[in-house]
Amino acid sequence: MHCGSENVIQNIVVGQQTDVSPIGLKYRKARIFYGAEQMYADLCRNCGTVVRQYVENPDRDWDIRHEA
Ligand SMILES: [Zn+2]
Repeated sequence: MHCGSENVIQNIVVGQQTDVSPIGLKYRKARIFYGAEQMYADLCRNCGTVVRQYVENPDRDWDIRHEA
């Protein structure tokens, strides 16, 4: 832990934009469509450090950066 505090609140929903493009880890839903997986975070209430971020469904066709 960053500051050693045990005062961590877990499973906070990370907000997603509803229009244009959602915030989150992108994955391929269909040939040309992408989704963004909902993220959750654990937060230290003492120092404000986000100690963990995770998604519920790690088994997606993730949109990986392609090198040029
Ligand atoms: Zn802390």
